[in-house]
Amino acid sequence: MSSNLPHPCKTFVVKVVSRCNLNCSYCYMYNLKDRTWRDQPGIMSAGVRDHFAAKVDAHAARHGLSGVHIILHGGEPLLMGRVRLIDWIERVRSIIRPAVDIRFSIQSNGILIDEDWIDALAAQGVRIGLSLDGPRRFHDAHRLDHKGLGSFDRVMDAIGLLRSHPRGPEIFSTVMAVVDPSVDPSEMFDFWQEIDVPGFDLSLPHANWSSPPPVKGDRSYGAWMVEFFDLWFDQNRPDRSVRYFENILRMIFGFPISTDNIGGRPVDVIVVETDGSIEPTDAFKSCFDGITKLGLSVQNNAFDDVSANPFVRDFQVGAKALCRRCKRCDIVNECGGGYMPHRYDEATGFANPSVYCSDLMLLINHIRGRVCRVLQHEGLMVEA
Ligand code: SF4
Repeated sequence: MSSNLPHPCKTFVVKVVSRCNLNCSYCYMYNLKDRTWRDQPGIMSAGVRDHFAAKVDAHAARHGLSGVHIILHGGEPLLMGRVRLIDWIERVRSIIRPAVDIRFSIQSNGILIDEDWIDALAAQGVRIGLSLDGPRRFHDAHRLDHKGLGSFDRVMDAIGLLRSHPRGPEIFSTVMAVVDPSVDPSEMFDFWQEIDVPGFDLSLPHANWSSPPPVKGDRSYGAWMVEFFDLWFDQNRPDRSVRYFENILRMIFGFPISTDNIGGRPVDVIVVETDGSIEPTDAFKSCFDGITKLGLSVQNNAFDDVSANPFVRDFQVGAKALCRRCKRCDIVNECGGGYMPHRYDEATGFANPSVYCSDLMLLINHIRGRVCRVLQHEGLMVEA
């Protein structure tokens, strides 16, 4: 089987809606560099949906894929409306051959979640992840609606509903937080214990060498994550997962991971916008206006056509495309230069270490050290 792609796409982030009912200060879709959303249709049309499904089916056939992951994204995907979104899912399932196992998930701000949504998503087996940045004063510092009102209470209501609904735990297990070093890590950890959601994921704010991270100070993000890691690791509860740390642990032990935001593994994620544009990961929108526009679409192209674009190819091949400093780095296997959008510099492009390089170095070396000490203590590793 031949392919121009170094690795086939298996994860499709589909922008079914291109507007949001929140207006978060750090949002890379609407409040950083990119402005192309203004020209996007608010909601993906039925025609674009059908082209998308047909192209996924053809891509799976060409690469012999037994399964794909479709992430319904926005903006806020629930703005599509329940009947329309469920119809979208059913129609996509009907177009892609049954031999291809389709895993659906949705990333939501939680504002619209109610019992009917939970019933409908559970009936379709769609897993949901919610965004929540921590206790009220931190969450509401950034995650505001268009009237400037905080969204904390509404997200907490959604979490309460998901946890109490008979089918809620089937589809909901993870909240995602953007790291804010002004939050005390132990306060954040206690908050996570209080809301009692098994999974937690961390994301660094989208920033680069030309648009630096919001909190200044060398290694402030790294120090925060080290402290949060220790709280989690020392708790030693297998039923409490922090995906970002688990991915680093998996890489230390050489296990495969599926993420594009850390590690030098080839990337298999592609984005489809509401107008059908095929684009690389949407976090690139934090670099400059129009960066993700490749002139490709599900109406006119195959997913493999993205490989002709050198910028996307660099993203897809992972560690092979790194700068010299990263290639020589001791922890390149675990870090992989960090997230490619975080390597951007207006003057030099992407041939740089991550703007979070010192933070990642601190965190990964710390995790390595902790793991080595545990293994030595258990007699599973001899000291060098
Ligand atoms: S720690 Fe820095 S130099 Fe090392 S791989 Fe990561 S970004 Fe590159």
